[in-house]
Amino acid sequence: MAYQITSRCINCDMCVPECPNGAIAMGRLHYEIDPCLCAECLGFSDRPSCVAVCPVKCIKRIQEEHERPAGKNAGKKGARNADKNSG
Ligand code: SF4
Ligand code: SF4
Repeated sequence: MAYQITSRCINCDMCVPECPNGAIAMGRLHYEIDPCLCAECLGFSDRPSCVAVCPVKCIKRIQEEHERPAGKNAGKKGARNADKNSG
């Protein structure tokens, strides 16, 4: 579980000192969160500190595969029986 910074980041630097794990650093184009270091502020704050201070709300939680609802396409199968005999 981790948070990530989207491309809407304006590189304002506000979130960097807020992270208790030092997980936020400047990336190639904008700030990025190291998912190996981000612990979602568990045991430190009730809510993610970086999200709380970001002025443009560009920090989103990464939803892991097992957290996604078993979706609409979960039971879809491409099993088509094209067994048509003409004649
Ligand atoms: S959620 Fe907390 S631990 Fe994760 S990057 Fe933001 S401030 Fe750091
Ligand atoms: S606070 Fe938001 S806009 Fe500012 S550097 Fe961090 S992620 Fe980017």
